[in-house]
Amino acid sequence: MSRSTKRRMIAALTCAFMTALFCCILCLFPDTSKAFHTKGPLTEDTDSLDTTPASAKPLNLGELRRKYSETFKFRGPEVKQIALTFDDVPDPRFTPQVLAALRKEGVKATFFVVGHRAKKHPELLRAIHRDGHIIGNHSFSHALFKNRSRSQFQNEILRTENIIANLVGYRPKLIRPPYGEINEEQVKWAKKSGYIIVNWNVDSLDWKGLDSEKVKQNVLKAAGPGSIVLQHAGGGTGSDLSGTIQALPEIIQTLKAKGYHFVTLPELLQTKKYK
Ligand SMILES: [Zn+2]
Repeated sequence: MSRSTKRRMIAALTCAFMTALFCCILCLFPDTSKAFHTKGPLTEDTDSLDTTPASAKPLNLGELRRKYSETFKFRGPEVKQIALTFDDVPDPRFTPQVLAALRKEGVKATFFVVGHRAKKHPELLRAIHRDGHIIGNHSFSHALFKNRSRSQFQNEILRTENIIANLVGYRPKLIRPPYGEINEEQVKWAKKSGYIIVNWNVDSLDWKGLDSEKVKQNVLKAAGPGSIVLQHAGGGTGSDLSGTIQALPEIIQTLKAKGYHFVTLPELLQTKKYK
C-alpha cells in the first residue's frame, strides 16, 4: 500500500467516524437541536407567563358599557330629553331645597338613595317619592363596589332595597354605583337579577362645593339630547351644595328654552322604576 493510499484511507475513516458521531449526537438530543431552530412549546409557555391574555384583564367602565349595553347605561337615546339625577340622598341640609326648586320648575328627577341615610331620615325619602320623583339604589354605606366581595356587594344593594321598599313600596330597578365604579362580575349579577346600572355623561362636579355659575357652566356646556346629568342633593361633613341648588332654576330654564324636556330615568331609558 502506497503512502498516499494510506493517507486517503485514514481520511475516509476519520470522515466516517465524525459523521457517525454527529448522527449519534442528533439521535441522543433531537429536541435540543430542534429548540435552537424553532419556537418549541417551552418557549411558548414562557411567553404566556410574561403576557397576560386579554380575556383575563378586568374590563374598564367603557368596555363594560359596550359589552353590557342593555344593563349598563350612561346616557339615553338621542332625543330632546334630559334626565336630572341627584345622588347621596336623603340629607336634611340639602334635599328639601332641591325638592323645592324642582317643584317650582315643574320638573321630575331621579334620586339615588344611600341606605343608611334613608334609615335615618325616612320622612325625607317619603317626601321625594310624594313629589313624584323616582328612587334609585346608591348602596347602603356608599361603598366602593369593586373592592367588595360578592356577598358584601349584594348586601349593599339588598339592604338598601329593603329599606326603600318599606318606605315607598317598590324595589328600585336602577342602581348607581358610588363613584360610578363597578366590576364585570357585579354587572353580570345586576343583569341576571333584573337591575339596570346607570352612570352619567354630564358631571356638574357640584360635590366640590363649586359656586352656582360654575355648576351651571359644567352642566350647560355638556348637556345634549339624551343626557344624564349628575348632581347631588346630599353630601358629607362640611359639604356645600348651595351652588347646585342656586343653579337649578337657570339650568332648567335655559335647557327648556332650547327645546329640551326633563324626564325621569325610567322615561328616558324606557324602562320601569321597579324590578
Ligand atoms: Zn354618591
